[in-house]
Amino acid sequence: MSQEAFYYQVQMQEEYEMSKIKEFAQEMREEFLASEQEYCVYCGDEKSEKYDCCGENHYASFADLGEDVQTAILDEEIKQYEKATK
Ligand SMILES: [Zn+2]
Repeated sequence: MSQEAFYYQVQMQEEYEMSKIKEFAQEMREEFLASEQEYCVYCGDEKSEKYDCCGENHYASFADLGEDVQTAILDEEIKQYEKATK
């Protein structure tokens, strides 16, 4: 295989993986949006009975979170996903 063909293949492979991750992120976003789970608006931790993440008491559903927090939650899921698929 020529070097060019090799690089082309590597690039295709990377693009394929990126598209899988984007697809996954989109699915996760939809799942989160449909979920009743509430999150801390400050750090994005899931609300639970015992766990008090940053001493604040302000929770919102995923859809009501700021985009930064939404992205942070999704990034965390993507990291888990990448770990699981490698
Ligand atoms: Zn918090």
